[in-house]
Amino acid sequence: WVKAFQGEETHVLSFINLKGGVGKTTTAIAVAEILAHEERKHVLLVDLDPQTNATVGLIAEEQWAELDNTGRTVAQLFADRLNPHDRAAFDIEAAIVRGVSTINDGIARLDLLPSSIRLIELQDRIPMIALAGNFTANPLEILKNALQPIIDRYDYVIIDCPPSLGTVTKNGLRLSTGYVIPTIPDIVSTWGIYQIVDNVSRFATDIGREIPALGIVATKVQGNNLHARVIDDLRANRLGRFGVENGLTQPPLFTNTIPQTVAVARGADVEADIRTFKGKYGTAYEPLRGLTLEIKRICENKTQ
Ligand code: ADP
Ligand code: MG
Repeated sequence: WVKAFQGEETHVLSFINLKGGVGKTTTAIAVAEILAHEERKHVLLVDLDPQTNATVGLIAEEQWAELDNTGRTVAQLFADRLNPHDRAAFDIEAAIVRGVSTINDGIARLDLLPSSIRLIELQDRIPMIALAGNFTANPLEILKNALQPIIDRYDYVIIDCPPSLGTVTKNGLRLSTGYVIPTIPDIVSTWGIYQIVDNVSRFATDIGREIPALGIVATKVQGNNLHARVIDDLRANRLGRFGVENGLTQPPLFTNTIPQTVAVARGADVEADIRTFKGKYGTAYEPLRGLTLEIKRICENKTQ
């Protein structure tokens, strides 16, 4: 792990919201793909969500079924650590799927660590690892330890988190250099943002370093007054519950906002033979590219 910080830092970004359906996975995949294909970065996408949407969105059904049946997913990683008697170490090299992408342009710089539905039954037991007698495994450092031998290969690791702040998400945060909050710009979807920032900053204090929020990205934006008003509030740092008295400031809103388009919903089908990002994301492509460049700029300026 230490080696990554000697030369170029590996930027590790978690995509987090407590709410599902707000575009976390779509945005994480788009940013990962654009960084890999257009910015020529080596990228690892880690799917931490038992709903497996990122996995299903990047590799064909027969392939993920095979990976799941042979234990080559993050679920197996956690399962192995829960069983102190099973000394067979999880093989991270065998679990990484190389060169995944829905865009057929011959570029293979995006790798995937797949998830599995089996993670649902496991996630609540992960905190019990220490109690299970496996005192060598810190339940919050399982992902970090597993990725340690391979993380230097990547410029970016993008982590698609489940819609919670449980042990699985904390495993992602434990190695994150920053996080991104995708949200639909409406009252209900933005409600939990304060809670996310509050919890992540406490967790960061616990582990003794900062985990900065790079920003909030408005997703699935429709041209209505409510969305426009919430975007204005976010842009002016006026999101409710943040304030001087509690010491927490609202993360900035990314300049690029992602419109709701039919192309994005259609482009989620990995079996569709799509050759360009414009074909995959339609009018959302330019904003997604702009967002990716904003994220890249923040990450790469910080280390200079
Ligand atoms: P989450 O990961 O937060 O649960 P997803 O990225 O899976 O959210 O998005 C939820 C649903 O909304 C999916 O069906 C996805 O295809 C759709 N979606 C996401 N972003 C857009 C968009 N910009 N335009 C249209 N549909 C979108
Ligand atoms: Mg998702």
